[in-house]
This record gives sequence, structure tokens and C-alpha cells, in this order.
Amino acid sequence: MSEKFDIVIVGGGIVGASVAYHLGQIGRHSVCLLERDQLTCGTTWHAAGLVAELRASANLTRLARYSGELYEQLEGEGYGTGFRRVGAITLALNPERTIELKRQAAMARSCGIDCRWLSAAELSERWPHLETADVAGGVYMPRDGQTNPVDTTLALAAAARKAGVDVREKTPVRKLEVEAGRIIGVETDGGSIRGEKILLAAGLWTRQLAAAAGAVVPLYPCEHYYAVTEAVDLPAATPIIRVPDQGIYLKPDAGRLLIGSFEREARPVDPDSLPEEFSFAEFPFDLDHFAPYLASGLERLAGVASVGIRTWFNGPESFTPDGRYLLGETPALKNLYVAAGFNSIGIQSAGGVGQVMARWLDEGRPGMDLWDVDVRRFEPFQNEAGYLSGRAAESLGLLYAMHWPYRQLESCRDQRRSPLHDRLAARGACFGELAGWERPNWYAAEGQPASYRYSYGRQNWFENAAAEHRAVRGDVALFDQTSFAKFEISGPQSCAFLNRLCTAEMDVPAGRIVYSQCLNEQGGIEADVTVTRVEDERYLYVTGAACRVRDAAWLARHAAGFDVTVTDLTDRLAVLGVMGPNARSLLASCTAADLSNAAFPFATSREIEVRGIRLRASRITYVGALGWELYIEREDAVGLFDCLSVRGDGVEVPLAGYHAMDSLRLEKAYRHWGHDITDEDTPLEAGLSFTCDWDKPGGFIGREALLAQKDRGLNKRLVLFALEDPEALLYHDEPIWADGERIGRITSGAYGHSLGRALGFGYVTLPEPFLLKSLRHKSFQVEIGDEMIPATISTRALYDPDQHEIR
Ligand SMILES: Cc1cc2nc3c(=O)[nH]c(=O)nc-3n(C[C@H](O)[C@H](O)[C@H](O)COP(=O)(O)OP(=O)(O)OC[C@H]3O[C@@H](n4cnc5c(N)ncnc54)[C@H](O)[C@@H]3O)c2cc1C
Repeated sequence: MSEKFDIVIVGGGIVGASVAYHLGQIGRHSVCLLERDQLTCGTTWHAAGLVAELRASANLTRLARYSGELYEQLEGEGYGTGFRRVGAITLALNPERTIELKRQAAMARSCGIDCRWLSAAELSERWPHLETADVAGGVYMPRDGQTNPVDTTLALAAAARKAGVDVREKTPVRKLEVEAGRIIGVETDGGSIRGEKILLAAGLWTRQLAAAAGAVVPLYPCEHYYAVTEAVDLPAATPIIRVPDQGIYLKPDAGRLLIGSFEREARPVDPDSLPEEFSFAEFPFDLDHFAPYLASGLERLAGVASVGIRTWFNGPESFTPDGRYLLGETPALKNLYVAAGFNSIGIQSAGGVGQVMARWLDEGRPGMDLWDVDVRRFEPFQNEAGYLSGRAAESLGLLYAMHWPYRQLESCRDQRRSPLHDRLAARGACFGELAGWERPNWYAAEGQPASYRYSYGRQNWFENAAAEHRAVRGDVALFDQTSFAKFEISGPQSCAFLNRLCTAEMDVPAGRIVYSQCLNEQGGIEADVTVTRVEDERYLYVTGAACRVRDAAWLARHAAGFDVTVTDLTDRLAVLGVMGPNARSLLASCTAADLSNAAFPFATSREIEVRGIRLRASRITYVGALGWELYIEREDAVGLFDCLSVRGDGVEVPLAGYHAMDSLRLEKAYRHWGHDITDEDTPLEAGLSFTCDWDKPGGFIGREALLAQKDRGLNKRLVLFALEDPEALLYHDEPIWADGERIGRITSGAYGHSLGRALGFGYVTLPEPFLLKSLRHKSFQVEIGDEMIPATISTRALYDPDQHEIR
């Protein structure tokens, strides 16, 4: 008889221990934690132990902040984590970094973090031993802390044990046991251990363990360096110091100084090359590689330059293709969860991660939007070693690089190409990458390099995107939208299946396109889709490029019990958007099909022939224009493009990219899933309740939660903001103020070229339920860096709100 637990955690680093602790606190489950060797023996034992409060997004900041609170609380309960709030400063050595840090500081304050900007003079007055001759200023966070990673892990494990968790060392998991597409247990040397749910928190080993069972967990170890000096005489109040422009951080450490680096040229390590007994282990130290960082570190504080080095350390840490960690249930295997790939912030994240993962394992949901770090954001090809080793090294290097808006990753590009790629490149496309797809973000003019020059101001493509935008509003332009994820849903119960999943009525005549959301039981938006009834028993379901794996898993999980087949058409079909007031005449010049409004109204779709090529034309738009999305077999796409991209008079039709699309869709108040709408926002809050068919037979998933929310009233609503200053720009996460109170953050922003100002969505959140009309009398501002920019609000599209141009 094998042993049986509700939840089995694999891995006794800080993350596994934290999940065990939180499950122990919930106290509803039998839980076992299995550690291959000794607790902390993987990566945790050698971490520097910095616990910063601020992360890239508001929710990840919440998790990091909670970590510090938890370690502090455990310390107070006598568990001895070693946590201390020593404070931290991050220095800017140039004007662009100053802008970046001030923007981050504004975001931090909006999350309730105590965070101040100090000039170089103020820094030097406060910490006279700090070298500030090259410093423009810095952000001071007095509540940032440091902890002892080993003690903290042991404390979490001890508290977990006390709460009934079975923590076992010297118990390597050899294999995951799978039955009928779901995980059922793990195999150890002592036999099989059954688990209803299994969590892999096995650090750098997680990818291989999961891959052997068919699950994708893209992470890859890289070398990670620091050195610790001999004793130095530092004032007791010296905080942690980060100097991202030099790729270093400094941590006063028991009378010594730890100098750590984030090198631009980082080094991946083949995990298969590590011996099985790799415990409390390290790699050879390459002094040449680390020397420039060491030199910068030693020069930053007076009296340190000539001190000797006591410890040279180089150990493994796991990095992911986008520098964010991996949480959640794997799409490939039901009940197999992961928490891994911590990109050098595992200590500061582990407390919060333990809390949300325990909730995820307990309730099936994490309790907040975690799409940024959801394991479903990755495609299977991103799990390949060749790809991962390049990307992981870039991720490490970028951690302290400038976090420019629109910054594109550079390694391992060209994974997935549209069939139009070469044609678009020939027309000046500057490609960005999403889910491996090379997508035209903007088109360079004749003689202009098709590459980014980043800044926090208007970047070099601003006027290009403006021209593309104007072509869509005033003439016509072509968009390559091939990266859309597309699924065919067929079978006798396809209508019933989609009706259950989607908020809108799906029992519509063949040829009708329906815009809808798919909700979870709590009413949160899991997917934002357009669904076309192609035939009575066949639908085309279209979703965002980044959502393919997530939506596929959602469809597959809910298809059980319905007689339907879900087929992924993403790679088979290319999509060309023809958008603008002259879209009809352009398309009509290549087809005999009747495109008149009467014969081909808005939100309908049918097959037509364009110069002998059969394709599906769908009259729908994400840019707010008259237009068609043309769905075509991949091999026919170039022929179609060649017909449509040159007019009869030989003049080229403008092409438009994703930056223009973003600007156009914001003017039309079209939401973007993952930013403006997520699984923690409901259609009522997002202003999308028009998609809900409340009375359709059988209802839809999430309906009851929405009805209950309607009864309670809403204290959170999505609103469109337009800045009054035409020069200011919005990206995301800028704090929003109303009558002097902070009431939300921008969820996505772009410049509205037809309106001549920056636009952004944001949720207004107030303590009590409110009606939209009550916002009319408030005075709004958006905080950008250290400026407050007045803004007006709207709940409707700011461009063509009555849809005249579309219909
Ligand atoms: C030099 C350096 C400095 C760092 N500094 C900081 C810092 O200042 N702040 C910060 O937040 N982060 C820092 N980090 C990162 C941090 O150390 C990691 O993110 C964190 O320790 C990851 O914890 P983990 O539990 O995911 O992985 P690990 O600590 O590696 O734990 C995974 C555990 O799983 C076990 N395991 C693996 N396979 C199996 C199996 N088959 N069966 C059973 N058990 C298994 C391993 O033995 C291991 O104990 C640093 C990292 C390095 C390398």
C-alpha cells in the first residue's frame, strides 16, 4: 500500500518550505514535503538574503512585501529567521535611470511602500561614506530588509511541522506518476507516495522532473556571483545599496561587505552536467568575469577599496525566458503545480508565493491576478535547452539593465514567423516578439533603420506609428495578425459547450461573429474572445497570441462531458487585417464578393474568393475601423498579401504594426486581456456586461457570481483616462489620483494619435460601492515620475463612440 497525502511538495528550499508553512496554517489538508537531501541544499543556502519590497507589478510587490512581514512575524514568534529591516537605496547614475527610478517610486508608493527620492547631496549628507560624485540621486526604501535564507527556511519548515506537515529529508523523488493525463503521485526510493495534488518546488531541477512527465516548466540555471570582504568598518546604519547602472548590489553582512553582480554577459549552466549529489555545492569562481563588478563595488564606499576578500562565491540560480517566475497548475497535467524559476528573487518572493500557492492548492485559485508569473504563459518550444540557455542568460543580464518601455528581448529570436515575414521586412518592419512570434511593431521609413532607440520619452518610432494610425483612420492599412491564437471547436455539442463557457449567446446563425468573455466561477475574466459560428456544429474561437496555451488548457478542461473536438489552428491559418474607411474598396478591387453593408454587415463572417484564393473574411475590428480580418491557409498568405498590398495604380498600401494597433484600440476603449482585464476583474467592473446574456438557457460559468456582485454594488470600475498635457506619455502602472486620494493605477497606456494625447485604462477603486456618474465631479490626475498630470475620464470610446465608422 502506498502512502497517501492530499498534497505532496517536492523540494525543501525556501519556496517549498513556505508553501508547506502556509498549507499548515490553512490546516485542511494532509501535506508532505519531500527533500532530496537536506533542507536548503539547492540554491537557498547561498542566497545573499536581500528582501526588497518593490517588484515590477503591483501584485508581485504585494507578494514581496508580505514576505518581509512574514519573516519579521516569525522572528517575533521566536523562530529566528534573522530578518532585519535595514533599508535600501537604489542609485541612479544618469538622467534616464533617474526617470525610471522615480516612476518606480511612484508605483511603490501607490502600493503603500514607504519610498523617497533623495538627491545626491541628501544621500551624501545621510551616508557620508557613500561615494556620490557620479550619482544623480537615489530611491530610499527604509523598510527593505535582509534575512538569513537558511534560518528562514528552517523556521518555515519548523512551523510547518508544528502545524502537522510531514517534512522528510533524504527522500529524492525519482519520477512523477501519471494516469490518464493527471498526476497521481511520486515515486521515491522507499516506494510510491500518492498525492491528490503535487507541487514541484524543486528549484533548478524542476524543469527536468516535469519534462519527464510531459509538462513544460521553462527555467534554466545560470552562474550567479558574489564576493564577501574581510571585516570592514562600516557605519551600523549602512543600508543595502543597489547600483543597477554598474550591475552591482552591496550588502553589509556581519561586519563585512557582500558585493553581488548581475552581469550583462551572464553564463548558463547545463543542468544535466550537474552531479546527482549536487548539494550545498558551488561552481569554480572566474575572477576575470567578476573583476569589473568587484572593482565598482569596492569603490562605492569609503574605506573599503583596499580590503581583502574572504569569500568568493559562484552558485546556480534558475532564470526564465522573461525574467519572471513560474507559478500555477501546469496545462499539460491536471493537479501538477509548480513554484520555481525565481530569477534571483526567490528569498524575497517566497513568503508571498507560499501564501498564494497554498491558496491555489487549497481552493484551485490563487486569489489574485498572477498572469505575469503564470506557467501557462509559455509555449512548449520555450522549454528547449538551446532556447532556454540563451534566454536565461539574457534574463539575468536584464535584471539590472534599463527597463525601457517596449524593450525587446534580443536572444533566441525568430522562433515563429508569419508567412508574410519577408514581405513585411522588405517594407521596413521592425519586429517585436510575443510568445515566440515575430510581429511587426512598426514600419521604418525609407532609409530609417528598423530598430528601436529606447527612452522614456517619445521613442524613434513615435512618428511612424502615428502615420500608420492616421492611415487606418483616414485611408486603409494592412495588419499582419497571424499570431492570433485560433481554435476550431466542432461537434454536435459545440454550441452547448460554448454557451456554457461564454458570457454571450452562442446559438446564433452561422456566419455571425460574437464578442464574449469566458469567466471563472467567481466571475473573473479568464479569456476575452471573438467566436464565429462557421457552421451549425463548427465554431472558430480566436484569442490573443500570448493566451494560446492558457486558453487551450481552459477549453480542454471544460470540454469533458461535451461531445466536442477542439483543434488548434494557430499555425495553420495566417490572418491579414484590412482596416480603414477604404478597406471595402481595396478588398473589392481583388474580389467579386459582395462586400456591401447589406450583404456583408458588421460582425458577420463568410468564405470568399480573393483572386482565386479561398479564405474566410470576418467583418470585425480591434482598431475601430471599417474592415475585415482575412483568415487564410498559411501557404496562400503571400499571394493574398501581394494582391492587397499594392493598389491598382501601383501605389503601396500602408502597413501598420502593433504599436499603432495599441493606440487605435485605446481610442476605441477596447480592453486588452492580461492588462485591462484579468481573472480578478469581472465584466461588470470592466464595463463589459453588455456581453452577458443573463437569460440564456443553462446560464454560463460565473453568472451567479456576477448576479451577486450586481446586488452588492461595485466598488471598482474600469475607466479610460486621457491626459491633458499632450506631451506626457503613459505606459502602465502609473498611479491615479482623484481629489487628492490615490484610487488606482493605469493598466495599459498608449498615445492616441487622433486625439493628440496619451490614453490609459485604469480601475477606480473606492472603499464603498459607487455609481459611475459619481465620478463626474471628481478631479483626476495621473502621477508620472514626480509630476501630477491632470486627466479627464470617460467610460465610452473617445474616438467614434457611436460606431459610425465601423458599421
Ligand atoms: C548568489 C545568489 C544570490 C542570491 N541572492 C538573493 C537575494 O539576495 N534575495 C533573493 O530573494 N534571492 C536571492 N537569490 C535567489 C534565491 O536563492 C533563489 O531564488 C531561491 O533560493 C530559490 O529557492 P527554491 O526553493 O525555489 O530552490 P532551491 O533552494 O534550489 O530548492 C529546491 C530544493 O528542491 C530539492 N530537490 C530537487 N530535486 C528534487 C527531487 N527530485 N526530489 C526531492 N527534492 C528535490 C533540492 O535539493 C532543493 O533543496 C540568490 C541566488 C544566488 C545564486
